[in-house]
Amino acid sequence: MSKPVVAVVGRPNVGKSTLFNKLVGQRLSIVDDTPGVTRDRIYGECEWCGRKFTLIDTGGIEPNTKDVLLSQMRDQAQLAMDSADVIIMVTDLRVGVTAADAEVASMLLKSGRPVVLCVNKCDSVGDPPAEFYEFYNLGLGDPMAISSVHGHGTGDLLDKVISFLPEEETEEADSSVIRVAIIGKPNVGKSSLVNCIAGENRCIVSNIAGTTRDAIDTEVENSFGRFVLIDTAGIRRKSKVTEQIERYSVLRAQMAIERADVCVIMIDALEGFTEQDSKVAGLAHEAGKGCVVAVNKWDAVEKETGTMSAMRTKLEEDFSFMSYVPILFLSAKTGQRVDGLFETIRQVAESNQRRIATGVLNDVLAQATARVQPPTDKGRRLKIYYMTQASTRPPTFVCFVNSAELFHFSYQRYLENRIRETFGLNGTPVRFIVRERK
Ligand code: GDP
Ligand code: GDP
Repeated sequence: MSKPVVAVVGRPNVGKSTLFNKLVGQRLSIVDDTPGVTRDRIYGECEWCGRKFTLIDTGGIEPNTKDVLLSQMRDQAQLAMDSADVIIMVTDLRVGVTAADAEVASMLLKSGRPVVLCVNKCDSVGDPPAEFYEFYNLGLGDPMAISSVHGHGTGDLLDKVISFLPEEETEEADSSVIRVAIIGKPNVGKSSLVNCIAGENRCIVSNIAGTTRDAIDTEVENSFGRFVLIDTAGIRRKSKVTEQIERYSVLRAQMAIERADVCVIMIDALEGFTEQDSKVAGLAHEAGKGCVVAVNKWDAVEKETGTMSAMRTKLEEDFSFMSYVPILFLSAKTGQRVDGLFETIRQVAESNQRRIATGVLNDVLAQATARVQPPTDKGRRLKIYYMTQASTRPPTFVCFVNSAELFHFSYQRYLENRIRETFGLNGTPVRFIVRERK
């Protein structure tokens, strides 16, 4: 199930990244050696009193003029209002209340979203200083005094955040509905695809009950099932400033990914694969979601015999870090192969939540280890005693082995491929957890 999203907003230098790192701690979910993943830490998993949520840092851009600062602050706040369940607004005790703070506060206040206002850099313990009380003027209720560097007040902050989180969804609440995020860089055709689908299916465009976001998700029902197209904040409401800034489009994608079961990674057929595509795709892969690559604007490509297969081969190389991903060529403009997209989304969603019985899994393991012997090192051979599926979304397998060190990546990849082949796990990441048992 998707986790709630908590967004951090605030001016540059108030201490957003420091707070982010404090709250996320060791649980940073971005693994540096995963190819295709941004090194910029923009999101992390948090857990407090048994509640899990994703924390997103919306900051990180240093505008050089006052004008740009204000418009970026507005965009940042809008992004948070679109996709977050709770917003943490960070201010700086030493600087006091600024015009930009007031502007953002009034936007957040109007939106009616749950906001936790904190005044950072309250480093001394005890009663907050007189300057602290100035922050009541922002109209966001009681400010919380915190020190991100020392950690004071962050527990109270988390208590307040989780008090605003929506009720936890039950597993079967809407298990027949597949939530789809269409992600990709600006101008690849995301909104065109949503419009194409919406037009064809005469779907109900509605603000789905129970959410507090500004984003408008689109419900679709067709012969392949029931779907919700997640509004990637900005598909329906574009902003001139943020559209140009890569970090914002990555952030937007991240927010949509968190809420999705399946991610459609859109590539522009005319431009081919770019660095930014690999970042966005890497985020979906990392999050363990079902993935489909949709190569859009296929109508505009000059085609000769073999054009599609040549492009497919090239893309398979570009996406070698997620070799399981199906690649589709379509056109949001003409509607070509959009039906096929839904069929693939359905399959991918099923793979992503597939549960494999332990007995069958171990049969496959026995056959696989008989066919290709596990690796040895200095006379010791890897033994895999037993395997069991620990969870779904994505399928995660626990392997009990004699030595984790001997369980090399290449052999894991081999087993993964055997499991994929046998069970048809198309379009989903698969994870292994290795446990040593002497
Ligand atoms: P961001 O631009 O909002 O992400 O701000 P940063 O997290 O990069 O912090 C800006 C500066 O403020 C850095 O020099 C931090 O070390 C400092 N800072 C952040 N939090 C605190 C705090 O609680 N107390 C003090 N004294 N300094 C802080
Ligand atoms: P977004 O920024 O990803 O939402 O992209 P848009 O949907 O706004 O599309 C950007 C531009 O690409 C627009 O001018 C669209 O008309 C054009 N476009 C989108 N899909 C297609 C397509 O399938 N074929 C062609 N030829 N143009 C497309």
